[in-house]
Amino acid sequence: MPETKVKKSEDFNEWYNEIVELADLCDKRYPIKGMNIWRPYGWKLMNNVDRLIRDEMIKTNHEEVCFPLLIPESFFKKEEEHIEGFGKEVFWVTHAGINQLEERWLLRPTSETAMYPIFSLWIRSHTDLPLKTFQIVNTFRYETKQTRAFIRVREIHFFEAHTCHVDFEDAERQIKEDKEIAHRLLQKLCLPYVFSKRPEWDKFAGAYYTISIDVLMSSGRTLQIGSIHQYRDNFAKPYEISYETEKGAHAFCHQTTYGMSERLLGALVGVHGDNKGLIIPPEVAPLQVVIIPIIFKGKEKGVLEASETLHKKLLHEGIRSHIDDRETTPGNKYYDWELKGVPLRVEIGPKDVEKNELTMVRRDISKKKSVPLKDAEKAIQAELQALVQTIYANAEKLLNENMHSVLTAEEAKEKTGIVALPWCGNKDCALEIENVLEGNTLGEPIENAVCTDPCPVCGARAKTWMRFAKSY
Ligand code: ZN
Repeated sequence: MPETKVKKSEDFNEWYNEIVELADLCDKRYPIKGMNIWRPYGWKLMNNVDRLIRDEMIKTNHEEVCFPLLIPESFFKKEEEHIEGFGKEVFWVTHAGINQLEERWLLRPTSETAMYPIFSLWIRSHTDLPLKTFQIVNTFRYETKQTRAFIRVREIHFFEAHTCHVDFEDAERQIKEDKEIAHRLLQKLCLPYVFSKRPEWDKFAGAYYTISIDVLMSSGRTLQIGSIHQYRDNFAKPYEISYETEKGAHAFCHQTTYGMSERLLGALVGVHGDNKGLIIPPEVAPLQVVIIPIIFKGKEKGVLEASETLHKKLLHEGIRSHIDDRETTPGNKYYDWELKGVPLRVEIGPKDVEKNELTMVRRDISKKKSVPLKDAEKAIQAELQALVQTIYANAEKLLNENMHSVLTAEEAKEKTGIVALPWCGNKDCALEIENVLEGNTLGEPIENAVCTDPCPVCGARAKTWMRFAKSY
């Protein structure tokens, strides 16, 4: 069976770059760097991920909004840290037709500065709170580093939730809910993750604190797939988002945001894929089952009929099924669907029809298994479930085997993945470790962070563990 030219274990980055196009997720030939085309298969997959996010948002009483793409410069400039953080990354619109605009507009890099002046009009009283909104839109960032499909792009398919609360405690409750949402969502994507509290110098521009959600790719590098921010009233003050309390006083809102992006898709590719292509968790797979009729001359009828009957039954059960009746060899068909990561392949040939059976092959283990046609739906559901458990367990093993706590930078250098070291709280010490490890500071664990061992750089008693990793 042909495999991708580059093996995942040998050159992850090349493998990744190759697979995203071979599997028809995207087309990178658009002439603006970092702006790729979503192909139908990739877009279906992204939409399925969006559907899970939307379901979670609706379940937790968030309401969907859709704000304009363009933001007036005066809106953008109200929060100083935010401008500093994003100023170099924004695309500007300076002309309308042949006329120069009086005020420049920018393409949203994220939507705080578009939404918050409007939130200040929407919110009047404590009865308007909490305000819980989200949108799924494209954002734009002028990336100067090397771009990579779904991971580092200039036009980003983006999910952002923005909430306003009466006080800090209520905003903290929102952050707890956000963590639970992340957990449920990432379980469905079979992606184990770590939460880390970003260090001060690396938090979101304007945030009080930032929690990052990172997954570990097979290359040993981490990929940040999401972040949760507590803003306190840092934005509410400049944007004047205030309300009248029950007692008639005037108070500023406390705010949070929660963001994720098409990086989720990058993580699905990078964590689950293998040398034959993608392996997509059934929950989001555009096709969950592909049926391949094995045709022999003179025996077409029974095989096609059995395939059609099964296909209809599966659709009836809500399983996304497809019959591949293209005029090419079964081998070519196997190759194509393995590349695209369809979780389960069903083969029906003349012998299967004689025995009232079907043959199924799970994408992750490639072992053939025969089951009676009458039990097909149940057996297929069970097999999909078994795939979910296996790919989750594999990803969890990868993460667990690559999370380390050590006491010295020398020990840390020997490890791959995420390494935690004692940290005194001094930025220079963390930057020194980044240097030695040629990695990034990921952040403190959000639980069990306390550490009293000496800081490996200055020898002072540590305040916390600090995680480091090489990141995308
Ligand atoms: Zn130190």
